[in-house]
Amino acid sequence: MKPSAIVTGGASGIGLATVEWLLDEGWPVAVVDANPQALASAEDMLSGENAVFLGVDVTDEDMVAEIFDQAVDALGPVGGLVNSAGIARDIPFLETSPELFRQILDVNVIGSFIAAKAAVERMADTLSIVNIASVSGLRANRGRVAYGSSKAAVKMMSEIMSVELARRDVRVNCVAPGPIETPMVAQVHTPAVRQLWLERVPQRRYGDPDEIAAAVAFLLSPTSSYITGQTIAVDGGFMAAGLMDPED
Ligand code: NAD
Repeated sequence: MKPSAIVTGGASGIGLATVEWLLDEGWPVAVVDANPQALASAEDMLSGENAVFLGVDVTDEDMVAEIFDQAVDALGPVGGLVNSAGIARDIPFLETSPELFRQILDVNVIGSFIAAKAAVERMADTLSIVNIASVSGLRANRGRVAYGSSKAAVKMMSEIMSVELARRDVRVNCVAPGPIETPMVAQVHTPAVRQLWLERVPQRRYGDPDEIAAAVAFLLSPTSSYITGQTIAVDGGFMAAGLMDPED
């Protein structure tokens, strides 16, 4: 029997697309999210699937432990964890408050750390962790002082975990999406911001959540058994781009 997968932020966007992809591949999946409405509609949409739906704020260590225990009771030990729960703001450095900076670090970095620890403590024979980072953690995009710093921290945290946990059969990798059409992006990307991205992404389009889910599923599967400590950008060429022909 396949071990279980837990997807945080699994009720929306990239997390939800990943949940659907993993279910199609036969993983039993615990869908974990802080938004009760999104969780309820994901449950409606996926009724009859081998999935459980659990409300939790990933920054709350005790709640995460309780929810992960429930996931293991229902679906068995954890073979895969996807940390997709995250929050974003596009706001200049001088307008970023320490409170906002702390809040973003708390969810994106500490939340992923808490979930990863809880998963390792409940792991099957092997465990693959995929943290959703961002190209904004790899390149200095304006407006991303808190968000970009949080995602850079997620990348380094993943690398350190991959080194420390390698001999325990735990692999840790990141997927760093470029701009992807999700509810988060609908909120954060104004028409002007969209124009900026389209000028910088060689494929000249936003990605689909499924294009991230495919990479996550590969990193979760035993097919990628010798890959650990890596960050794969899934970004339509954004990270590779230098000068581009404006007509292209
Ligand atoms: P989304 O808002 O559609 O989904 C994020 C989900 O995380 C939501 O359902 C939300 O309720 C949940 N969440 C937020 N805070 C939480 C908390 N404290 N505890 C539990 N759940 C919480 O966003 P998305 O675009 O699908 O983003 C998913 C991940 O991908 C995020 O980490 C985001 O930073 C990253 N990302 C997205 C893009 C993009 O263009 N969409 C690009 C790069 C990286």
